[in-house]
Amino acid sequence: MLVDLIDRLRCPKPHGDTWLVAAASRTEHRHLVDATLGCHICGAEYTLRAGELWFGDATEETPMPVSEGETLRTAALLGAVERGLYLLDGGWASLAASLGELLDVDLLLADPPAIARGAAAGRGILRGVGDRWPLASASLHGLALSRATEPRLDDAVRVLRAGGRLIAPASAPVPAGIRELTRDGRHWVAEKAAPLVTLARGSR
Ligand SMILES: [Zn+2]
Repeated sequence: MLVDLIDRLRCPKPHGDTWLVAAASRTEHRHLVDATLGCHICGAEYTLRAGELWFGDATEETPMPVSEGETLRTAALLGAVERGLYLLDGGWASLAASLGELLDVDLLLADPPAIARGAAAGRGILRGVGDRWPLASASLHGLALSRATEPRLDDAVRVLRAGGRLIAPASAPVPAGIRELTRDGRHWVAEKAAPLVTLARGSR
């Protein structure tokens, strides 16, 4: 896990937004390999082991087929033209290596399938992610969601910055606070609305 990513992490427990404090036991270059991350509000501790940060029990996710076509489609759906942090959840993480070659962006993986974990070494990997994303609000440029429960969809809107894209299975409902851009038989893509800006009018 890149040291820079630690700033984006938050305790997923239902209390006020708070960052996690890392006590590193092993660091290589700019990567945390083994560490304990603690929450100073609820006292929860999360273990970073071999670069994977654990929040709950492991889930086994189904890989997605990897091809040039799927890689290009995903890059287009994510609108990943800007440098930034993009999260690939579950099966989407199968595309991490090929997307990493195509795009100059940071990728964070949530519960990647076993086959994708080796290739993802060195990236940020979150394991056992529940219904709340362990991330700061407005910290992601894009999120490709695989396990689309309603709480995960709602919280995905929170962790996206304005203009950030969310991809989810076509069968999932589109949560509030995000505008659908397009859909096909497999997925929909939506964009988080920018907050309304009130322009202060200068007095004459
Ligand atoms: Zn906490």
